Amino acid sequence: MAEISGAQLISRSLKLHGVDHMFGIVGFPVVPVGFAAMQEGIKYYGMRHEQSASYAAQAVSYLTGRPGSCLVVSGPGMTNAISGLANAQSNCWPMILIGGASDIAQDGMGAFQEAPQIEAARPFVKYAARIDSVERIPYLVEQAVRISMYGRPGPVYLDFPGDIIDAKIEEDDVTQPPRVPDPARPLADPAAVEGAIDALKSAERPLVIVGKGAAYSRAEAEVLEFIEKTQLPYLAAPMAKGLIPDDHPLSTAAARSLVLQNADLIFLMGARLNWIMHFGLPPRFAEDVRVIQLDIAQEEIGTNVPTEVALVGDAKAVVGQLNAVLDEHPWQFPEESTWRTTIQKKIDENVAKTAPMLTDDSVPLTYYRVLNEINNLLEKDDIIINEGANTMDIGRQVLANYLPRHRLDAGSFGTMGVGLPYAIAAAAVHPDKRIVAVEGDSAFGFSGMEVEVACRYNMPIVFIVVNNNGISGGPSELDPNFIPPSSLLPNAHYEKVIEAFGGLGFFCEKPDEIKPALEKAFASGKPCVVNIMIDPRARRRAQQFGWLTR
Ligand code: ADP
Repeated sequence: MAEISGAQLISRSLKLHGVDHMFGIVGFPVVPVGFAAMQEGIKYYGMRHEQSASYAAQAVSYLTGRPGSCLVVSGPGMTNAISGLANAQSNCWPMILIGGASDIAQDGMGAFQEAPQIEAARPFVKYAARIDSVERIPYLVEQAVRISMYGRPGPVYLDFPGDIIDAKIEEDDVTQPPRVPDPARPLADPAAVEGAIDALKSAERPLVIVGKGAAYSRAEAEVLEFIEKTQLPYLAAPMAKGLIPDDHPLSTAAARSLVLQNADLIFLMGARLNWIMHFGLPPRFAEDVRVIQLDIAQEEIGTNVPTEVALVGDAKAVVGQLNAVLDEHPWQFPEESTWRTTIQKKIDENVAKTAPMLTDDSVPLTYYRVLNEINNLLEKDDIIINEGANTMDIGRQVLANYLPRHRLDAGSFGTMGVGLPYAIAAAAVHPDKRIVAVEGDSAFGFSGMEVEVACRYNMPIVFIVVNNNGISGGPSELDPNFIPPSSLLPNAHYEKVIEAFGGLGFFCEKPDEIKPALEKAFASGKPCVVNIMIDPRARRRAQQFGWLTR
Protein backbone atom coordinates (compact mmCIF):
# COMPACT_ATOMS: atom_id res chain seq x y z
CA MET A 1 0.00 0.00 0.00
CA ALA A 2 1.22 3.53 -0.76
CA GLU A 3 2.38 5.79 2.00
CA ILE A 4 2.07 9.54 2.09
CA SER A 5 4.30 11.93 4.05
CA GLY A 6 3.29 14.96 6.04
CA ALA A 7 4.89 17.16 3.39
CA GLN A 8 2.90 15.50 0.63
CA LEU A 9 -0.37 15.50 2.53
CA ILE A 10 -0.28 19.19 3.41
CA SER A 11 0.46 20.02 -0.23
CA ARG A 12 -2.36 17.82 -1.49
CA SER A 13 -4.76 19.30 1.06
CA LEU A 14 -3.83 22.89 0.20
CA LYS A 15 -4.24 22.21 -3.52
CA LEU A 16 -7.61 20.57 -2.94
CA HIS A 17 -8.82 23.76 -1.25
CA GLY A 18 -7.73 25.98 -4.13
CA VAL A 19 -4.50 27.18 -2.56
CA ASP A 20 -2.66 27.34 -5.86
CA HIS A 21 0.29 29.56 -4.95
CA MET A 22 3.05 29.21 -2.40
CA PHE A 23 5.83 31.70 -1.73
CA GLY A 24 8.62 30.80 0.61
CA ILE A 25 12.17 30.09 1.48
CA VAL A 26 13.05 26.47 2.08
CA GLY A 27 15.56 25.12 4.52
CA PHE A 28 15.43 22.74 7.45
CA PRO A 29 12.81 21.31 8.05
CA VAL A 30 10.53 22.44 5.20
CA VAL A 31 12.54 21.47 2.09
CA PRO A 32 10.29 18.44 1.43
CA VAL A 33 7.20 20.63 1.67
CA GLY A 34 8.40 22.93 -1.12
CA PHE A 35 9.13 19.98 -3.42
CA ALA A 36 5.88 18.22 -2.55
CA ALA A 37 3.90 21.43 -3.19
CA MET A 38 5.30 21.59 -6.70
CA GLN A 39 4.58 17.91 -7.27
CA GLU A 40 0.96 18.48 -6.26
CA GLY A 41 0.61 21.29 -8.80
CA ILE A 42 1.01 24.30 -6.49
CA LYS A 43 2.98 27.10 -8.11
CA TYR A 44 5.97 27.58 -5.83
CA TYR A 45 8.06 30.76 -5.84
CA GLY A 46 11.28 30.89 -3.87
CA MET A 47 11.71 34.37 -2.42
CA ARG A 48 14.74 36.08 -0.88
CA HIS A 49 13.23 37.04 2.47
CA GLU A 50 10.37 35.47 4.42
CA GLN A 51 8.79 38.86 4.91
CA SER A 52 8.49 39.23 1.14
CA ALA A 53 7.12 35.72 0.83
CA SER A 54 4.42 36.53 3.36
CA TYR A 55 3.48 39.75 1.54
CA ALA A 56 3.31 37.97 -1.81
CA ALA A 57 1.06 35.23 -0.42
CA GLN A 58 -1.58 37.67 0.79
CA ALA A 59 -1.54 39.67 -2.44
CA VAL A 60 -2.47 36.44 -4.22
CA SER A 61 -5.43 36.10 -1.85
CA TYR A 62 -6.63 39.62 -2.65
CA LEU A 63 -6.18 39.13 -6.37
CA THR A 64 -7.75 35.66 -6.64
CA GLY A 65 -10.19 35.34 -3.74
CA ARG A 66 -8.56 32.05 -2.57
CA PRO A 67 -5.81 32.17 0.04
CA GLY A 68 -2.19 32.28 -1.01
CA SER A 69 0.27 30.37 1.15
CA CYS A 70 3.68 31.11 2.55
CA LEU A 71 6.23 28.49 3.58
CA VAL A 72 9.04 29.37 5.98
CA VAL A 73 11.59 27.63 8.13
CA SER A 74 11.51 27.48 11.91
CA GLY A 75 12.72 30.21 14.26
CA PRO A 76 13.92 33.30 12.37
CA GLY A 77 12.17 32.21 9.19
CA MET A 78 8.87 32.15 10.99
CA THR A 79 9.43 35.35 12.95
CA ASN A 80 10.46 37.14 9.73
CA ALA A 81 7.04 36.29 8.30
CA ILE A 82 5.11 37.84 11.18
CA SER A 83 5.08 41.26 9.51
CA GLY A 84 3.13 39.59 6.73
CA LEU A 85 0.59 38.25 9.21
CA ALA A 86 0.19 41.70 10.71
CA ASN A 87 -0.16 43.28 7.28
CA ALA A 88 -2.78 40.75 6.19
CA GLN A 89 -4.68 41.20 9.43
CA SER A 90 -4.70 44.96 8.99
CA ASN A 91 -5.85 44.69 5.36
CA CYS A 92 -8.44 41.99 6.18
CA TRP A 93 -6.87 39.65 3.62
CA PRO A 94 -6.60 35.88 3.88
CA MET A 95 -3.29 34.07 3.85
CA ILE A 96 -1.92 30.83 5.21
CA LEU A 97 1.48 30.87 6.84
CA ILE A 98 3.08 27.47 7.26
CA GLY A 99 6.01 27.61 9.62
CA GLY A 100 8.43 24.75 9.90
CA ALA A 101 9.06 23.96 13.56
CA SER A 102 11.49 21.93 15.57
CA ASP A 103 10.56 18.30 16.14
CA ILE A 104 7.80 17.59 18.64
CA ALA A 105 10.09 14.91 20.05
CA GLN A 106 12.58 17.67 20.99
CA ASP A 107 10.04 20.09 22.51
CA GLY A 108 11.60 22.06 25.35
CA MET A 109 15.06 20.56 24.82
CA GLY A 110 16.59 23.63 23.18
CA ALA A 111 16.17 22.23 19.68
CA PHE A 112 17.54 23.93 16.56
CA GLN A 113 15.51 27.12 16.02
CA GLU A 114 13.00 26.12 18.67
CA ALA A 115 10.74 29.10 19.33
CA PRO A 116 7.25 29.90 20.67
CA GLN A 117 5.93 30.24 17.14
CA ILE A 118 2.24 29.70 17.76
CA GLU A 119 2.29 32.22 20.59
CA ALA A 120 4.14 34.67 18.36
CA ALA A 121 1.62 34.30 15.55
CA ARG A 122 -1.47 34.40 17.73
CA PRO A 123 -2.05 38.19 18.07
CA PHE A 124 -1.95 38.58 14.30
CA VAL A 125 -4.09 35.69 13.11
CA LYS A 126 -7.66 34.41 13.19
CA TYR A 127 -6.44 30.88 13.80
CA ALA A 128 -3.19 29.25 14.85
CA ALA A 129 -2.67 25.53 15.28
CA ARG A 130 0.15 23.06 15.53
CA ILE A 131 0.03 20.10 13.19
CA ASP A 132 0.44 17.34 15.73
CA SER A 133 0.05 14.28 13.51
CA VAL A 134 0.02 13.44 9.81
CA GLU A 135 -3.53 12.08 10.14
CA ARG A 136 -4.87 15.46 11.24
CA ILE A 137 -3.34 17.47 8.37
CA PRO A 138 -6.47 17.45 6.14
CA TYR A 139 -8.62 18.51 9.08
CA LEU A 140 -6.30 21.35 10.11
CA VAL A 141 -5.77 22.62 6.57
CA GLU A 142 -9.53 22.72 5.97
CA GLN A 143 -9.98 24.72 9.18
CA ALA A 144 -7.19 27.09 8.25
CA VAL A 145 -8.51 27.72 4.73
CA ARG A 146 -12.12 28.14 5.89
CA ILE A 147 -11.35 30.47 8.77
CA SER A 148 -8.99 32.53 6.63
CA MET A 149 -11.64 33.17 3.96
CA TYR A 150 -14.91 33.23 5.88
CA GLY A 151 -16.40 36.14 7.82
CA ARG A 152 -13.91 39.00 7.87
CA PRO A 153 -10.96 37.54 5.96
CA GLY A 154 -7.58 37.34 7.66
CA PRO A 155 -4.36 35.38 8.08
CA VAL A 156 -3.97 31.97 9.72
CA TYR A 157 -0.95 30.06 10.94
CA LEU A 158 -0.05 26.37 10.85
CA ASP A 159 2.98 25.24 12.81
CA PHE A 160 4.56 22.24 11.14
CA PRO A 161 7.12 20.29 13.20
CA GLY A 162 9.90 18.53 11.31
CA ASP A 163 9.06 15.07 12.59
CA ILE A 164 5.48 15.42 11.28
CA ILE A 165 6.70 16.78 7.93
CA ASP A 166 8.76 13.61 7.45
CA ALA A 167 6.38 11.10 9.05
CA LYS A 168 4.29 8.85 6.81
CA ILE A 169 0.90 7.22 6.99
CA GLU A 170 -0.97 4.85 4.70
CA GLU A 171 -2.85 6.79 2.02
CA ASP A 172 -5.90 4.67 2.75
CA ASP A 173 -5.99 6.11 6.25
CA VAL A 174 -6.38 9.67 4.96
CA THR A 175 -9.78 11.30 5.42
CA GLN A 176 -10.01 14.39 3.31
CA PRO A 177 -12.82 16.93 3.93
CA PRO A 178 -14.35 18.39 0.75
CA ARG A 179 -13.01 21.61 -0.77
CA VAL A 180 -13.99 24.70 1.21
CA PRO A 181 -16.59 26.48 -0.93
CA ASP A 182 -16.09 30.15 -1.81
CA PRO A 183 -17.43 32.37 0.97
CA ALA A 184 -21.20 32.77 1.21
CA ARG A 185 -22.54 36.20 0.37
CA PRO A 186 -24.77 37.14 3.29
CA LEU A 187 -27.59 39.58 2.56
CA ALA A 188 -28.38 42.53 4.78
CA ASP A 189 -31.65 42.90 6.67
CA PRO A 190 -34.16 44.12 4.02
CA ALA A 191 -35.42 46.75 6.48
CA ALA A 192 -31.88 48.14 6.72
CA VAL A 193 -31.65 48.20 2.91
CA GLU A 194 -34.83 50.33 2.78
CA GLY A 195 -33.46 52.38 5.67
CA ALA A 196 -30.24 53.08 3.80
CA ILE A 197 -32.10 54.36 0.77
CA ASP A 198 -34.37 56.53 2.94
CA ALA A 199 -31.31 57.96 4.68
CA LEU A 200 -29.63 58.72 1.35
CA LYS A 201 -32.80 60.46 0.13
CA SER A 202 -32.86 62.64 3.24
CA ALA A 203 -29.23 63.78 2.87
CA GLU A 204 -28.24 67.11 1.37
CA ARG A 205 -24.57 66.29 0.94
CA PRO A 206 -24.23 62.52 0.61
CA LEU A 207 -20.97 60.76 -0.18
CA VAL A 208 -20.34 57.10 -0.95
CA ILE A 209 -16.92 55.89 0.25
CA VAL A 210 -15.87 52.73 -1.54
CA GLY A 211 -13.23 50.61 0.19
CA LYS A 212 -11.07 47.62 -0.59
CA GLY A 213 -13.61 45.37 1.18
CA ALA A 214 -15.91 46.04 -1.79
CA ALA A 215 -13.02 45.33 -4.14
CA TYR A 216 -12.23 42.08 -2.33
CA SER A 217 -15.90 41.13 -2.59
CA ARG A 218 -15.79 41.68 -6.37
CA ALA A 219 -18.67 44.11 -6.14
CA GLU A 220 -17.57 46.21 -9.13
CA ALA A 221 -20.62 45.63 -11.35
CA GLU A 222 -23.06 46.30 -8.51
CA VAL A 223 -21.23 49.36 -7.18
CA LEU A 224 -21.01 50.94 -10.64
CA GLU A 225 -24.70 50.24 -11.19
CA PHE A 226 -25.56 51.76 -7.82
CA ILE A 227 -23.52 54.91 -8.43
CA GLU A 228 -24.99 55.36 -11.89
CA LYS A 229 -28.55 54.69 -10.74
CA THR A 230 -28.32 57.09 -7.81
CA GLN A 231 -25.87 59.61 -9.31
CA LEU A 232 -24.27 59.86 -5.87
CA PRO A 233 -20.78 61.34 -5.65
CA TYR A 234 -18.25 58.79 -4.46
CA LEU A 235 -14.71 58.62 -3.15
CA ALA A 236 -12.56 55.53 -3.67
CA ALA A 237 -10.24 54.48 -0.84
CA PRO A 238 -6.69 53.92 -2.13
CA MET A 239 -6.96 50.25 -3.07
CA ALA A 240 -10.58 50.62 -4.18
CA LYS A 241 -9.37 52.79 -7.04
CA GLY A 242 -10.49 51.26 -10.31
CA LEU A 243 -13.48 49.46 -8.80
CA ILE A 244 -15.25 52.22 -10.69
CA PRO A 245 -12.96 53.62 -13.43
CA ASP A 246 -11.07 56.62 -12.01
CA ASP A 247 -12.29 58.89 -14.82
CA HIS A 248 -15.92 58.42 -13.84
CA PRO A 249 -17.69 61.81 -13.64
CA LEU A 250 -19.02 61.05 -10.15
CA SER A 251 -15.55 60.48 -8.69
CA THR A 252 -14.67 63.13 -6.13
CA ALA A 253 -11.01 62.10 -5.80
CA ALA A 254 -9.83 65.55 -6.83
CA ALA A 255 -11.98 67.18 -4.13
CA ARG A 256 -11.21 64.72 -1.32
CA SER A 257 -10.85 67.18 1.55
CA LEU A 258 -13.94 69.11 0.54
CA VAL A 259 -16.22 66.10 0.30
CA LEU A 260 -15.01 64.53 3.52
CA GLN A 261 -15.35 67.74 5.45
CA ASN A 262 -18.75 68.73 4.14
CA ALA A 263 -20.67 65.50 3.62
CA ASP A 264 -23.69 65.31 5.91
CA LEU A 265 -24.02 61.58 5.29
CA ILE A 266 -21.40 59.03 4.30
CA PHE A 267 -22.09 55.55 3.02
CA LEU A 268 -19.13 53.29 3.82
CA MET A 269 -19.03 50.38 1.39
CA GLY A 270 -16.39 47.98 2.71
CA ALA A 271 -14.25 50.77 4.13
CA ARG A 272 -13.36 51.54 7.75
CA LEU A 273 -13.25 54.83 9.60
CA ASN A 274 -9.63 54.25 10.59
CA TRP A 275 -6.63 56.55 10.09
CA ILE A 276 -6.99 56.39 6.30
CA MET A 277 -10.44 57.96 6.68
CA HIS A 278 -9.36 60.24 9.52
CA PHE A 279 -11.50 58.23 11.99
CA GLY A 280 -14.66 59.89 10.65
CA LEU A 281 -14.08 62.68 13.15
CA PRO A 282 -13.83 66.48 13.03
CA PRO A 283 -12.10 68.47 11.67
CA ARG A 284 -11.85 66.13 8.64
CA PHE A 285 -15.53 65.23 8.87
CA ALA A 286 -18.58 67.21 9.90
CA GLU A 287 -19.29 67.01 13.64
CA ASP A 288 -22.66 65.36 13.17
CA VAL A 289 -21.96 63.32 10.03
CA ARG A 290 -24.48 60.51 9.58
CA VAL A 291 -23.18 57.06 8.66
CA ILE A 292 -24.51 54.17 6.63
CA GLN A 293 -22.10 51.29 6.97
CA LEU A 294 -21.84 48.16 4.85
CA ASP A 295 -19.45 45.58 6.23
CA ILE A 296 -19.15 41.81 6.43
CA ALA A 297 -17.91 42.18 10.01
CA GLN A 298 -20.69 43.22 12.35
CA GLU A 299 -18.18 44.14 15.04
CA GLU A 300 -16.87 46.90 12.77
CA ILE A 301 -20.24 48.68 12.80
CA GLY A 302 -20.11 51.87 14.84
CA THR A 303 -16.32 52.12 15.10
CA ASN A 304 -15.38 55.72 15.97
CA VAL A 305 -18.72 57.19 14.81
CA PRO A 306 -22.18 55.81 15.60
CA THR A 307 -23.82 54.11 12.63
CA GLU A 308 -27.31 55.20 11.63
CA VAL A 309 -27.97 52.32 9.22
CA ALA A 310 -25.99 49.07 9.43
CA LEU A 311 -25.87 46.85 6.36
CA VAL A 312 -24.17 43.75 7.64
CA GLY A 313 -23.38 41.45 4.76
CA ASP A 314 -21.31 40.91 1.67
CA ALA A 315 -20.70 44.03 -0.42
CA LYS A 316 -21.59 42.46 -3.76
CA ALA A 317 -24.79 40.93 -2.41
CA VAL A 318 -25.89 43.96 -0.41
CA VAL A 319 -25.25 46.54 -3.12
CA GLY A 320 -27.23 44.18 -5.35
CA GLN A 321 -30.08 44.42 -2.81
CA LEU A 322 -29.91 48.21 -2.94
CA ASN A 323 -30.02 48.12 -6.73
CA ALA A 324 -33.06 45.85 -6.67
CA VAL A 325 -34.93 48.32 -4.45
CA LEU A 326 -33.89 51.14 -6.77
CA ASP A 327 -35.22 49.18 -9.74
CA GLU A 328 -38.60 49.09 -8.04
CA HIS A 329 -38.48 52.69 -6.84
CA PRO A 330 -35.98 54.64 -8.91
CA TRP A 331 -34.32 57.59 -7.22
CA GLN A 332 -31.47 59.87 -8.17
CA PHE A 333 -29.53 62.50 -6.31
CA PRO A 334 -30.26 65.71 -8.26
CA GLU A 335 -27.51 66.82 -10.60
CA GLU A 336 -28.49 70.45 -10.15
CA SER A 337 -27.87 70.34 -6.39
CA THR A 338 -25.56 72.81 -4.67
CA TRP A 339 -23.53 69.81 -3.45
CA ARG A 340 -22.76 68.51 -6.92
CA THR A 341 -21.98 72.01 -8.18
CA THR A 342 -19.70 72.75 -5.21
CA ILE A 343 -17.82 69.50 -5.71
CA GLN A 344 -17.39 70.09 -9.43
CA LYS A 345 -16.09 73.61 -8.82
CA LYS A 346 -13.48 72.28 -6.40
CA ILE A 347 -12.47 69.48 -8.77
CA ASP A 348 -12.01 72.01 -11.59
CA GLU A 349 -9.91 74.26 -9.34
CA ASN A 350 -7.70 71.42 -8.13
CA VAL A 351 -7.25 69.95 -11.59
CA ALA A 352 -6.26 73.39 -12.89
CA LYS A 353 -3.76 73.85 -10.05
CA THR A 354 -2.17 70.46 -10.64
CA ALA A 355 -2.06 70.63 -14.45
CA PRO A 356 1.10 72.74 -14.80
CA MET A 357 2.86 70.57 -12.21
CA LEU A 358 2.29 67.51 -14.37
CA THR A 359 4.21 69.02 -17.26
CA ASP A 360 6.84 70.85 -15.20
CA ASP A 361 10.15 70.74 -17.12
CA SER A 362 12.35 71.42 -14.07
CA VAL A 363 15.59 69.58 -13.58
CA PRO A 364 15.98 68.02 -11.08
CA LEU A 365 12.63 66.40 -11.73
CA THR A 366 9.48 66.63 -9.64
CA TYR A 367 7.14 63.86 -8.50
CA TYR A 368 4.25 65.14 -10.56
CA ARG A 369 6.20 65.22 -13.81
CA VAL A 370 7.66 61.76 -13.27
CA LEU A 371 4.36 60.18 -12.30
CA ASN A 372 2.60 61.89 -15.18
CA GLU A 373 5.15 60.49 -17.65
CA ILE A 374 4.49 57.05 -16.20
CA ASN A 375 0.73 57.49 -16.28
CA ASN A 376 0.83 58.55 -19.93
CA LEU A 377 2.37 55.21 -20.86
CA LEU A 378 0.10 53.00 -18.77
CA GLU A 379 -2.51 50.80 -20.36
CA LYS A 380 -5.90 50.36 -18.77
CA ASP A 381 -5.32 46.82 -17.59
CA ASP A 382 -1.84 47.32 -16.18
CA ILE A 383 -1.55 46.35 -12.53
CA ILE A 384 -0.07 49.23 -10.59
CA ILE A 385 1.88 48.63 -7.41
CA ASN A 386 2.72 51.80 -5.56
CA GLU A 387 4.60 52.42 -2.33
CA GLY A 388 6.71 55.05 -0.71
CA ALA A 389 5.57 58.20 1.07
CA ASN A 390 5.14 60.96 -1.50
CA THR A 391 5.61 58.50 -4.35
CA MET A 392 2.51 56.69 -3.15
CA ASP A 393 0.45 59.68 -2.08
CA ILE A 394 1.00 61.56 -5.31
CA GLY A 395 0.90 58.29 -7.24
CA ARG A 396 -2.58 57.63 -5.95
CA GLN A 397 -3.62 60.92 -7.43
CA VAL A 398 -1.75 60.81 -10.74
CA LEU A 399 -1.70 57.09 -11.68
CA ALA A 400 -5.16 56.20 -12.96
CA ASN A 401 -6.88 52.86 -12.40
CA TYR A 402 -9.65 51.63 -14.62
CA LEU A 403 -10.16 48.09 -13.39
CA PRO A 404 -10.84 46.60 -9.95
CA ARG A 405 -7.99 45.07 -7.91
CA HIS A 406 -5.42 46.62 -10.23
CA ARG A 407 -3.79 48.73 -7.54
CA LEU A 408 -1.79 47.40 -4.60
CA ASP A 409 -0.12 49.72 -2.14
CA ALA A 410 1.09 50.04 1.45
CA GLY A 411 -2.50 49.54 2.61
CA SER A 412 -4.10 49.78 6.02
CA PHE A 413 -0.86 48.92 7.82
CA GLY A 414 1.14 51.51 5.86
CA THR A 415 3.77 48.86 5.19
CA MET A 416 6.86 49.71 3.19
CA GLY A 417 8.57 46.83 1.43
CA VAL A 418 5.38 45.26 0.08
CA GLY A 419 5.87 46.59 -3.44
CA LEU A 420 8.31 44.07 -4.91
CA PRO A 421 6.60 41.00 -3.44
CA TYR A 422 3.17 42.31 -4.46
CA ALA A 423 4.49 42.82 -7.98
CA ILE A 424 5.82 39.24 -8.03
CA ALA A 425 2.48 37.97 -6.76
CA ALA A 426 0.64 39.96 -9.43
CA ALA A 427 2.92 38.56 -12.13
CA ALA A 428 2.32 35.04 -10.80
CA VAL A 429 -1.45 35.48 -10.90
CA HIS A 430 -1.64 37.54 -14.10
CA PRO A 431 1.23 36.52 -16.38
CA ASP A 432 -0.74 38.08 -19.23
CA LYS A 433 -0.75 41.60 -17.77
CA ARG A 434 1.87 44.28 -17.46
CA ILE A 435 2.94 44.82 -13.87
CA VAL A 436 4.34 48.22 -12.97
CA ALA A 437 5.76 48.82 -9.50
CA VAL A 438 6.24 52.51 -8.76
CA GLU A 439 8.49 52.67 -5.72
CA GLY A 440 10.10 55.27 -3.55
CA ASP A 441 13.85 54.62 -3.21
CA SER A 442 13.53 53.81 0.47
CA ALA A 443 10.54 51.50 -0.12
CA PHE A 444 12.45 49.72 -2.89
CA GLY A 445 15.30 48.98 -0.52
CA PHE A 446 13.24 46.98 1.96
CA SER A 447 12.78 44.14 -0.52
CA GLY A 448 15.23 45.11 -3.25
CA MET A 449 16.81 41.67 -3.59
CA GLU A 450 13.45 40.33 -4.79
CA VAL A 451 14.41 41.63 -8.25
CA GLU A 452 16.43 38.42 -8.50
CA VAL A 453 13.18 36.49 -8.05
CA ALA A 454 11.58 38.42 -10.92
CA CYS A 455 14.60 37.55 -13.08
CA ARG A 456 14.67 33.90 -12.02
CA TYR A 457 11.01 33.39 -12.88
CA ASN A 458 11.26 35.55 -15.97
CA MET A 459 8.58 38.00 -14.85
CA PRO A 460 8.75 41.12 -17.03
CA ILE A 461 7.86 43.49 -14.20
CA VAL A 462 8.81 47.13 -14.66
CA PHE A 463 10.08 48.43 -11.32
CA ILE A 464 10.34 52.20 -11.27
CA VAL A 465 12.35 53.84 -8.50
CA VAL A 466 11.46 57.45 -7.84
CA ASN A 467 14.74 58.37 -6.24
CA ASN A 468 15.10 61.32 -3.90
CA ASN A 469 18.16 60.03 -2.02
CA GLY A 470 16.32 59.13 1.14
CA ILE A 471 13.26 59.06 3.33
CA SER A 472 11.31 62.20 2.42
CA GLY A 473 14.43 63.27 0.56
CA GLY A 474 18.10 63.00 1.49
CA PRO A 475 21.19 65.04 0.81
CA SER A 476 22.64 65.33 -2.70
CA GLU A 477 26.10 64.79 -1.21
CA LEU A 478 26.98 62.99 2.00
CA ASP A 479 28.80 64.75 4.77
CA PRO A 480 30.62 61.81 6.41
CA ASN A 481 30.51 63.66 9.72
CA PHE A 482 26.76 63.91 9.73
CA ILE A 483 24.71 61.35 7.85
CA PRO A 484 21.09 62.19 8.66
CA PRO A 485 18.82 59.29 9.66
CA SER A 486 16.66 60.03 6.64
CA SER A 487 19.47 59.87 4.10
CA LEU A 488 20.32 57.09 1.70
CA LEU A 489 23.32 56.96 -0.57
CA PRO A 490 22.95 59.93 -2.92
CA ASN A 491 22.42 59.15 -6.62
CA ALA A 492 22.38 55.42 -5.94
CA HIS A 493 22.23 53.35 -9.12
CA TYR A 494 19.49 50.90 -8.16
CA GLU A 495 19.13 49.92 -11.82
CA LYS A 496 22.52 48.21 -11.66
CA VAL A 497 21.18 45.71 -9.15
CA ILE A 498 18.84 44.09 -11.65
CA GLU A 499 21.52 44.06 -14.35
CA ALA A 500 23.48 41.67 -12.16
CA PHE A 501 20.68 39.12 -12.68
CA GLY A 502 20.11 39.64 -16.38
CA GLY A 503 17.38 42.27 -16.15
CA LEU A 504 17.61 45.69 -17.77
CA GLY A 505 18.43 48.90 -15.98
CA PHE A 506 17.68 52.48 -16.99
CA PHE A 507 18.72 55.71 -15.33
CA CYS A 508 16.93 59.02 -15.93
CA GLU A 509 17.55 62.52 -14.71
CA LYS A 510 15.76 64.70 -17.26
CA PRO A 511 12.12 64.91 -18.34
CA ASP A 512 12.70 63.75 -21.90
CA GLU A 513 14.65 60.68 -20.78
CA ILE A 514 11.73 59.07 -18.98
CA LYS A 515 9.44 58.17 -21.87
CA PRO A 516 12.08 56.43 -24.02
CA ALA A 517 13.38 54.51 -21.00
CA LEU A 518 9.91 53.32 -20.05
CA GLU A 519 9.06 52.42 -23.65
CA LYS A 520 12.21 50.33 -23.92
CA ALA A 521 11.47 48.71 -20.58
CA PHE A 522 7.91 47.75 -21.54
CA ALA A 523 9.02 46.52 -24.97
CA SER A 524 11.90 44.42 -23.61
CA GLY A 525 9.80 41.63 -22.13
CA LYS A 526 12.35 41.50 -19.30
CA PRO A 527 12.31 42.53 -15.68
CA CYS A 528 13.57 46.11 -15.56
CA VAL A 529 14.47 48.77 -13.05
CA VAL A 530 13.97 52.33 -14.22
CA ASN A 531 15.72 54.57 -11.72
CA ILE A 532 14.54 58.16 -11.94
CA MET A 533 16.33 60.85 -9.96
CA ILE A 534 14.12 63.61 -8.61
CA ASP A 535 14.72 66.73 -6.61
CA PRO A 536 15.32 65.66 -2.98
CA ARG A 537 13.32 68.72 -1.97
CA ALA A 538 10.33 67.81 -4.16
CA ARG A 539 7.11 67.64 -2.19
CA ARG A 540 3.43 67.09 -2.60
CA ARG A 541 1.21 70.03 -3.45
CA ALA A 542 0.07 71.57 -0.15
CA GLN A 543 -2.90 69.58 1.15
CA GLN A 544 -5.67 70.83 3.35
CA PHE A 545 -5.63 67.48 5.11
CA GLY A 546 -2.74 65.09 4.56
CA TRP A 547 -3.06 61.44 5.56
CA LEU A 548 -1.22 61.65 8.80
CA THR A 549 -1.93 65.22 9.87
CA ARG A 550 -3.24 65.10 13.42
P1 ADP B 1 -10.07 50.81 2.87
O1 ADP B 1 -8.68 50.84 3.42
O2 ADP B 1 -10.13 50.57 1.41
O3 ADP B 1 -10.89 51.97 3.32
P2 ADP B 1 -10.58 48.87 4.90
O4 ADP B 1 -9.55 47.81 4.79
O5 ADP B 1 -10.40 49.91 5.94
O6 ADP B 1 -10.79 49.50 3.46
O7 ADP B 1 -11.97 48.20 5.16
C1 ADP B 1 -12.36 47.04 4.50
C2 ADP B 1 -13.60 46.53 5.20
O8 ADP B 1 -14.24 45.65 4.29
C3 ADP B 1 -13.30 45.76 6.47
O9 ADP B 1 -13.97 46.32 7.57
C4 ADP B 1 -13.81 44.35 6.16
O10 ADP B 1 -14.45 43.75 7.25
C5 ADP B 1 -14.79 44.61 5.04
N1 ADP B 1 -15.02 43.49 4.14
C6 ADP B 1 -14.19 42.49 3.81
N2 ADP B 1 -14.79 41.64 2.96
C7 ADP B 1 -16.02 42.13 2.73
C8 ADP B 1 -17.13 41.71 1.95
N3 ADP B 1 -17.09 40.60 1.21
N4 ADP B 1 -18.25 42.46 1.98
C9 ADP B 1 -18.32 43.58 2.74
N5 ADP B 1 -17.32 44.02 3.50
C10 ADP B 1 -16.18 43.31 3.49
